[in-house]
Amino acid sequence: MEIRTRFAPSPTGNLHIGSARTALFNYLFAKKNNGKFVLRIEDTDIERSKKEYEENIIGNLKLLGLDWDEFYRQSERMDVYAKYLQKLLDEDKAYYCFCGPEELEAMRQEQMSRGEAPKYAGKCSCISKEESQERIKKGERAVIRFKVEPKIVRFNDLIRSQIEFDASLMGDIVIAKNIKTPLYNFAVVIDDADMGITHIIRGEDLLPNTPKQILIQEALGLDKVKYAHLPLILGPDRSKMSKRHGATSIKEYLDQGYLPHAIINFLALLGWNPGTDKEIFSLDELIKEFSTDKIQKSGAVFNIQKLDSINGIYIRRLSLEILTDLCRKYAPEINEKIVSLFQERMKKISEIGELADFFFKENLDYEKDMLKWKNMTDQEVIESIDKSIKVISKIKDWNKENIEKGLLEEAGEKRGELLWPVRVALSGKKFSPPPFDIAEILGREKTIKRLDYAKSLF
Ligand code: GLU
Repeated sequence: MEIRTRFAPSPTGNLHIGSARTALFNYLFAKKNNGKFVLRIEDTDIERSKKEYEENIIGNLKLLGLDWDEFYRQSERMDVYAKYLQKLLDEDKAYYCFCGPEELEAMRQEQMSRGEAPKYAGKCSCISKEESQERIKKGERAVIRFKVEPKIVRFNDLIRSQIEFDASLMGDIVIAKNIKTPLYNFAVVIDDADMGITHIIRGEDLLPNTPKQILIQEALGLDKVKYAHLPLILGPDRSKMSKRHGATSIKEYLDQGYLPHAIINFLALLGWNPGTDKEIFSLDELIKEFSTDKIQKSGAVFNIQKLDSINGIYIRRLSLEILTDLCRKYAPEINEKIVSLFQERMKKISEIGELADFFFKENLDYEKDMLKWKNMTDQEVIESIDKSIKVISKIKDWNKENIEKGLLEEAGEKRGELLWPVRVALSGKKFSPPPFDIAEILGREKTIKRLDYAKSLF
């Protein structure tokens, strides 16, 4: 049997870390088993669904390289749901419910005052079909409720093993606002069956819906599906990951200069591990090594340092040409030579703007005391810079090797005293690439100009 998975986002927000991980795991599982990966946009909630979110989800999945084999949009399938809703109504497995919000609230309060867990007690289930039809024709509003069989629902989750729910606690659930407007739990069951989905891999937050979906499936005689509920993604404080922990949407990470492959690699490790120390995986390697029995049950902590470090590894693997192209988005004037000075220590592409800003500034702005190595006096700094200017003025072939040779010869034992002021004068920073590399790129004229400026601060 062909393995078929699906990613079923509601376009009510941008593609975020959690949903991207769900998409990835479904993708990996399908590809690993030579199966198919289906993308289904769940846009039945007309008020909350937005085209821009759908575009964001689709666009970012593509950027991440998670291509789908088939695509569906629930809003284009309303006829299918209506057919199955009607079937349940005809077979007395669902009924129209006319209870309004106030009435429902009153019932709930009454149940709670009796110390019972609130649930719909089935008031409208005894209304005859004829009467329901009459009332609807007259314009009364009614939702459609599914008759929940009060039994224990059991299923085997690929990650969480045997799971049981007592459906008698649920009460009859609303599955559609009307015959033309199905709700999530209903539409999802119809679609999963209709699209031949064999495995549902999704976040643990959806677990409470699973028994409802299984009951609807059984009522319609649809094929069983296997489930894998992924552990929650937690912030560093171990509470559910949310905006207050930092960026959550994939777009924000891409905009900050995290590379798609690094994001994929990082997402894969959010709840899954290969069982070895290996941490860097291409998408193909992930496909090969992925398996649901290496997915953990406990929450997966989102660790931004780890993402940074993985991204750094991917940045170092890029050719200088490609990296420079990527850097241009953040620093339009950048060139390969400058980028090469930072490739080793960049964690995200956006950093290049700040790391390399001093190359493009006419005047640097720094505290003059930064020019002092250890306890140097003003006079010593001036003398040191003078020496450097002298050396630099005499260099014949302007390249970093000659600049380095000249300056080191002049420095002798006192490297810090000579080189530190040059570094700060050229970069305006305490941390920068070596002064020789900077000088080579700046050229002799600018280098001397910056050294003169440093002197003028005293
Ligand atoms: N559309 C649902 C959501 O975005 C997920 C559906 C599912 O995976 O069953 O929360």
